[in-house]
Amino acid sequence: MNNYIKVSDITEYLRCPRKVYYAYQEHRPLRTITSSYIASLLLKEMAYEYAEVVLSDNKENKLHELLDRVIIRLPAIYSDEILDIDPQMIQKAATEVQNYFEKIKNGIMESVELFGTQLLLDLIPPHDPEPILYSSKFHFSGSPDRILMLDGIASLSIIRTGTAPQTGIWKNDRIRLTALAILVEENSSSTVDQGVVEYSRYGIIRRVKIKRTDRRKVMILMGRIRKIKHGRLPEQAKDAPCDYCVYKEFCHVSSTLASRFF
Ligand code: SF4
Repeated sequence: MNNYIKVSDITEYLRCPRKVYYAYQEHRPLRTITSSYIASLLLKEMAYEYAEVVLSDNKENKLHELLDRVIIRLPAIYSDEILDIDPQMIQKAATEVQNYFEKIKNGIMESVELFGTQLLLDLIPPHDPEPILYSSKFHFSGSPDRILMLDGIASLSIIRTGTAPQTGIWKNDRIRLTALAILVEENSSSTVDQGVVEYSRYGIIRRVKIKRTDRRKVMILMGRIRKIKHGRLPEQAKDAPCDYCVYKEFCHVSSTLASRFF
């Protein structure tokens, strides 16, 4: 599977194509662990269990219980990144997460009203660790956060820990969801026509159609990423997030004329 690209490459490409280049040049990312980063990990792990909040009569207490549970689990799950993390940083991250409890609770209650309890539980079932899926047709791999069965047809969801748009889902989330939908299709031999994005910081659950235009974009992006994997240095994104980039120490290479044409 060495020649396979990853769905996460597509996500990185959309942030800045050069991040994919450095990843494949085997530069070790220089990640600085911050309390906000830990908070995003906590929110992701809690979101896997939000079905318990849906069913609870005391949603705030349940959120505290989930937070306590994931704080204990976190070093085991992310042992490569945060095994020796300062307990004070975990505490700061936990406080940041607690500050979102009201929003999470309200978002979940609005989702119950929107979908009804049973459908909502179908959209966010208790987590069952999903395997990595492979596409032998298109040579890429990825792992949805949940595999779902909606109206008797396989589907999937992804959990995002950043901000949520007022309506719908962010463009980059749509592309990621579509790439993973293509993987689920190949592995389930059925057409995936919808998916779910969960914005865990707000308890928001958005159900969306998988669009043909996004399928086309995924195919185009995978072609570009393959070229980068084979050594083409791409232009940086116009609004590249350099301040927070784990490759900023390495990113001094000037582009070639050829790189500007793809
Ligand atoms: S430092 Fe900026 S231009 Fe370089 S890879 Fe990172 S985000 Fe892209």
